[in-house]
Amino acid sequence: MKALVHDGCGNIALLDRPRPRLLEPTDAIVRVTRSTICTSDLHIMRGAVPRAKPDTVLGHEFVGVVEEAGPGVRSFSPGDRVAVNCETFCGECFFCRRGWVNNCECGGWLLGCTIDGCQAECVRVPYADNAFTRIPDGVSDEDALFLGDILATGWWGARLAQIEPGSAVAVIGAGPVGLTTMMCARLAGPGCIIALDVDESRLRRAAEHGLADVLINPAEKNLDAVESLVRSATGSRGADAVIEAAGGDDTFEMAWRIARPNAVVVLSAMYERDQALPLPSMYGKNLTFKTGGVDACGLDGVMGLIAAGKLDTSLLISRRYPLNDILDAYRAFEAREDGCLKVVITPWEARG
Ligand SMILES: [Zn+2]
Ligand SMILES: [Zn+2]
Repeated sequence: MKALVHDGCGNIALLDRPRPRLLEPTDAIVRVTRSTICTSDLHIMRGAVPRAKPDTVLGHEFVGVVEEAGPGVRSFSPGDRVAVNCETFCGECFFCRRGWVNNCECGGWLLGCTIDGCQAECVRVPYADNAFTRIPDGVSDEDALFLGDILATGWWGARLAQIEPGSAVAVIGAGPVGLTTMMCARLAGPGCIIALDVDESRLRRAAEHGLADVLINPAEKNLDAVESLVRSATGSRGADAVIEAAGGDDTFEMAWRIARPNAVVVLSAMYERDQALPLPSMYGKNLTFKTGGVDACGLDGVMGLIAAGKLDTSLLISRRYPLNDILDAYRAFEAREDGCLKVVITPWEARG
């Protein structure tokens, strides 16, 4: 089968690989019907994820059809349409029992990182019962595509932010994760959502889809100016909750500066560099920071919101490419060609 493999030194190639086989009774093999490229794939390509293994098939955001299920898979069988969580987890360890599946003692972010991922015709998925969310009949593959990763991240970030009805929520970054965060934050009934991004077209898109009420472009502004714009939108207090989904050079500092005292600051961004925590300057602000990788689990309810039309991620899809042309898809995604947000990879096409 065809698969997109990276070498750990910044190079990717579409290669022939053997079809995956079941290795454990709890594994399933999924035929990928839609996949996509995530910014984390670019981080791996650039060598910014130390534990990522070279010569591995990239990709961890996808939906598909179960082709084969091991004897230990109880809830799914061949033919089922499924969305797949980006994380692999056992469901039974100390962390899994508490819903902290990102830190599962026998899992975590494996697919497309330490084991072969989904940018291929088929993929082996460990702990299939935990990994899968069933796609209901009325939901298309593309409607469900982002559930297991960026939508899960938006959902998780909004939940961690403890948004109360009427509160002012600031979301830094209006890219794919920023937009799913705003969508999920909206469902909590905030008084306003403040979107911050240096890309004007991304801000406009957030406003046009009703995801943001206040737009702030920090480009060519210092952080004092950004902070005062947020203050003037929030009765001079600062944001009640901040979700940092950008991972830029100064967005961590922006996040804690625009937060009001006693706010929750959620860092769902992935940074390529260390960030400074200047405790003397923030002393007395009594902030709560929540950081890390999404706990992508328990997503049946989120799938229900998609089915009910309350969450719609179609605005994220900019372009579609068959697996044959995935190298072009990487180029367009990385360069953000024509404002490209997310690309959809459709199955390999036999060409005469
Ligand atoms: Zn991802
Ligand atoms: Zn576990």
